[in-house]
Amino acid sequence: MSMQKYIKDFPILKRKVNGKKLVYLDSAATSQKPIQVIKAITDFYMNHNANIHRALHTLSEEATIAYEQAREKVAAFINAESTEEIIFVRNTTEALNFASFGLRDMIKKDDKILTTTMEHHSNLIPWQQLAKMKKAKLDFVDFDKNGYLDMKMFDKKVNDAKIVAVTQASNVLGTINPIKKIAEKAKQSGSIIVVDGAQSVPHMTVDVQELQIDMLGFSGHKMLGPTGIGVLYARKELLEKMQPVLFGSDMIKYVSLSDAEWNDLPYKFEYGTSHIAGAIGLGAAIDYLTQIRMKEIRKHDIELTRYALKKVGKIATIYGPKKAEDRSGLIAFNLANIHPHDIAAILNQDGIAIRSGHHCAMPLHERLKISASARASFYLYNTKKEIDLLLKSLQRVKEIFS
Ligand code: PLP
Repeated sequence: MSMQKYIKDFPILKRKVNGKKLVYLDSAATSQKPIQVIKAITDFYMNHNANIHRALHTLSEEATIAYEQAREKVAAFINAESTEEIIFVRNTTEALNFASFGLRDMIKKDDKILTTTMEHHSNLIPWQQLAKMKKAKLDFVDFDKNGYLDMKMFDKKVNDAKIVAVTQASNVLGTINPIKKIAEKAKQSGSIIVVDGAQSVPHMTVDVQELQIDMLGFSGHKMLGPTGIGVLYARKELLEKMQPVLFGSDMIKYVSLSDAEWNDLPYKFEYGTSHIAGAIGLGAAIDYLTQIRMKEIRKHDIELTRYALKKVGKIATIYGPKKAEDRSGLIAFNLANIHPHDIAAILNQDGIAIRSGHHCAMPLHERLKISASARASFYLYNTKKEIDLLLKSLQRVKEIFS
């Protein structure tokens, strides 16, 4: 497979677990890091480390340039209009909290916030909290038996929604939602469209202008970058109206004893000392992904998912759409009545890393009438051979419990 040549860039994939070669199928939780990203971070700490924006010395200038270059890379990667629209945060969760609480002055009593029943908790709880704080209404669009969002229900409910908050790709069902259609309808209704891009931005081309997205959150660590760095994208006009969520340090322009004036964009939202090395690492991850091309990564995801649906689908119940083209690179499943934690523990004996539990999507699992699922998720470094190993190990699990 054409992605095979990149595997050597990931040092961790050489390691053994329980005497077996590691098969890492947990990239939806966090991806592995190529040597190029590891080196970019090391190089920063070894040669350029200093705080940014605040000093005139050479190291600080170098650090500032590298940090701002990373912002330029992010802006280009999602086709934002300007770097003012790129806020560095810690992760998707922080991005979506900034989105919801940043919009607090624009939401009044009885306003409607519309989300879906397939959200990760990170795109649910911030809206629950905002709705509680403002006595606003929180409403949901459900999904059908095949895991597709019910677009008829969406059409009915979007009319009077102030905010539409939806995931682009479900971390359990794998469903890729029709964001362009959703955003178009949200625009017609005058709603702000907020997208959880945690599982989409690492795996496909996401063009915020083409999709007409108002706000987008994603995490560096799921796209070959380091942990502790993420992005909130928002249209400039919206960021100008929004309130900061955390206060102090870089985010102010002028301070008196009784008040403060916020800094220009994007710094208005970047409180305290930023994760400078993290942003630089994310920039290196974007360089790496761009060089491979997101279209190729998407193709590879589809190929592996199609193979997994066919192979694992023979012995397990897989949730979500049947067509690989409609899914991101993951399968969540249950095997007979075996607890997913038992499955994951036995697979670990074979060196296979998968996730088990509710994957931070409890209402989604309740909606499926299950308490947990096992999840195998793929990225550019995975192969069909690894899915064969997954299947073999799952067969062993079944035998143990028969
Ligand atoms: N949204 C989705 C769909 C996710 O899959 C995840 C993480 O698994 C998140 C949000 C939260 O990401 P983070 O933990 O990086 O904030």
